[in-house]
Amino acid sequence: MNARTEVLKTLTVKGNGIRFKDKGAVSEYFGENVFNYESMQSKLSSEHYESFTKCVKEGKELTFSLANAIAHAMKEWAIEKGATHYAHWFQPLTGATAEKHDSFIEVEKGKAIERFSGKQLVKQEPDASSFPSGGLRVTFEARGYTAWDPTSPAFLMESDLGKTLCIPSVFISYNGEALDKKAPLLKSCQVVQEKSRKLLKHFNIPANRVESSVGPEQEYFLVDRDIALLRPDLLMTGRTLFGAQPSKGQELDDQYFGSIKDRMLAFMHDIEQELYKLGIPIKTRHNEVAPHQYEIAPIYEEANIAADHNQLVMEIMKKKAIKHNFFLSLHEKPFARINGSGKHLNWSLNADGLNLLDPGDNPNENFQFLTFLVAIIWAVHQYAPLLRASIASAGNDHRLGGNEAPPAIISIFLGEQLTRILESIEKGDVSSETVQEIINIGITQIPRIPRDNTDRNRTSPFAFTGNKFEFRAVGSAQSIAIPVTVINTIVSEGLEMMNKRLSQEMERGKPLFEAVISVIKELIPEIKTILFEGDNYSEEWLKEAEKRHLPNLKTTPEALKAFVNSEFQSLFSSHNIFSHSELSARYNVELEKYCKNILIEASLTLKMTKSRIYPMASKYQTALAQQISSLKNAFEKEGPMTEKPMQYLTHYSKKINEMLDILSRLEKEIEKASGLEDNGECAEFLVKKVIPSMEKLRCYVDELELLTDDKLWSLPKYCELLFFD
Ligand code: ADP
Ligand code: MG
Repeated sequence: MNARTEVLKTLTVKGNGIRFKDKGAVSEYFGENVFNYESMQSKLSSEHYESFTKCVKEGKELTFSLANAIAHAMKEWAIEKGATHYAHWFQPLTGATAEKHDSFIEVEKGKAIERFSGKQLVKQEPDASSFPSGGLRVTFEARGYTAWDPTSPAFLMESDLGKTLCIPSVFISYNGEALDKKAPLLKSCQVVQEKSRKLLKHFNIPANRVESSVGPEQEYFLVDRDIALLRPDLLMTGRTLFGAQPSKGQELDDQYFGSIKDRMLAFMHDIEQELYKLGIPIKTRHNEVAPHQYEIAPIYEEANIAADHNQLVMEIMKKKAIKHNFFLSLHEKPFARINGSGKHLNWSLNADGLNLLDPGDNPNENFQFLTFLVAIIWAVHQYAPLLRASIASAGNDHRLGGNEAPPAIISIFLGEQLTRILESIEKGDVSSETVQEIINIGITQIPRIPRDNTDRNRTSPFAFTGNKFEFRAVGSAQSIAIPVTVINTIVSEGLEMMNKRLSQEMERGKPLFEAVISVIKELIPEIKTILFEGDNYSEEWLKEAEKRHLPNLKTTPEALKAFVNSEFQSLFSSHNIFSHSELSARYNVELEKYCKNILIEASLTLKMTKSRIYPMASKYQTALAQQISSLKNAFEKEGPMTEKPMQYLTHYSKKINEMLDILSRLEKEIEKASGLEDNGECAEFLVKKVIPSMEKLRCYVDELELLTDDKLWSLPKYCELLFFD
């Protein structure tokens, strides 16, 4: 018996035994752990409350006395709810969240009192110098500050061991440079609001606030923890580095939208309850395509809140998974040859409740819609490599182009009706009146049938789905903050371009609708190469995209270069979202992360092959050889009865030898890669040498798995990881 067979023997379905307190109707407790406007109002004077909401709405700075009042109210609320500590909660460049807890107490003459001042609320200095900064923090000025983000409400993080008041914050350097993912996101929201409002003026649509609205659909895998604990690769890298294909995979599609098993349902119910307490509007849950793969999706929210909430969703899922004896993988490709996980990022612009990507049903709204739509198409066409860079990671490289997720080539799907309308405008077939006719009979129907629209093309990386865009190439483990920041920024540039062109046309005396048509007519020939309605997974599209000169940046190191491209850097600095050095820092951090991740995977591949795979294989090799000599004895000579076993042994031994060859090659390559100081050089070497060697080695191991006596194989197999409920 080995560890695997031992664990398998003891496994029973544990799901039904898991208990948690069901809180009943969600409306009764939704947001109870959030210091929202309601709890604020109950704790603040009406004067303070009104000043605060005004400051947030108008993006104004808070006075010192107001900050003090809010800190006091927050503390009172938190302590009443059982909190003992507070923490600035922020999102460093690691992609995870960070918190440093401080207790509320101060000690005076041996007596403890709870205090929390405005100063403590507004700014903390956690030092936190071990977070990656990509060169923004040199040691002599290594100070990093967290500063309260009043636009995202504070909340209580609860565990069996106590409660902590978490204060959403940005993380900045001594010089004010952003060391996190949140500060640039907030700036991008401001810019896209400003540009939208300006463009909306042409259409006489007054808008106090324009929000970017975001709804991320999150995919994930759950694996029984007892089994997962026997897979060091899964535990350490989030994915299996080895594993032969099981006899049954996902080909039957029997998991997708299937009935949810009790054990999974208990987990989902439990996380949802926690998320509701945090005011996170989870709406949807279902089985995904792969076995043991699931999806959770909220109702969309304002971008920066959606980004915070998605981080919390991932965090709470991780914590709860342990309680339910699951291992949660958010990795983009935990299992080879089985669908990986992504995060569909639904994005739109919302002006005081009016969805700007909703075609609407009056002429003015339709022309406004077309103007924004074409500005976005222009932006994606112009800055596609930035979108690709925003989702680049070692994990996501496995997915993009893997015939399950959109390819690394960025393109836009619009749907038949919109495509037709743009084509007619390009051909000059339409005046503003006939466009109106088409729009009336055509586009206005789209919002009524959005599902039809999404379902028609699930292969596009950037699809228009009736009243929003869906960026489908985002990785499941990633923070959505950077992709949203990039979308907001490039769209801001698109809106500004549109605004300029429209103003020019109108200065020449054209009425608004005609100006819109003529600007669109002029733009289409330039931008239409980014539009694609066909199957993005197909070979033909690869060829076609090449013909159209659309970039196909297959690997993270290639994709990240967009962050150090001077044209793109100027785009970000002109909108005041990233300075050149802030963007270069992101390049450095992401590239380093890539190198580290691949090197960890490579050295684990090496270790597991040496200490687990080879010993198992050589044991079986010996057993086979012994068996053959027994056969020879029994039959007193070599003959037809020993021929086949001999062939088996020869084949098996050949595989071991070849595996060992690649093993020593990989070992040398890892050594070389680890010695390369320059991350760019290292990444290139990893892509060219290390990754192909790892893949090759894996092929041998997976083949050996299928050839070896099952009782000797001590690593849980795919069928156990994926089919044990
Ligand atoms: P699907 O894409 O699977 O058809 P839905 O259309 O229902 O599913 O929406 C998926 C996600 O898109 C949800 O999180 C939803 O809240 C979000 N969404 C819907 N409308 C908008 C919008 N205007 N802006 C941003 N996200 C939106
Ligand atoms: Mg979707």
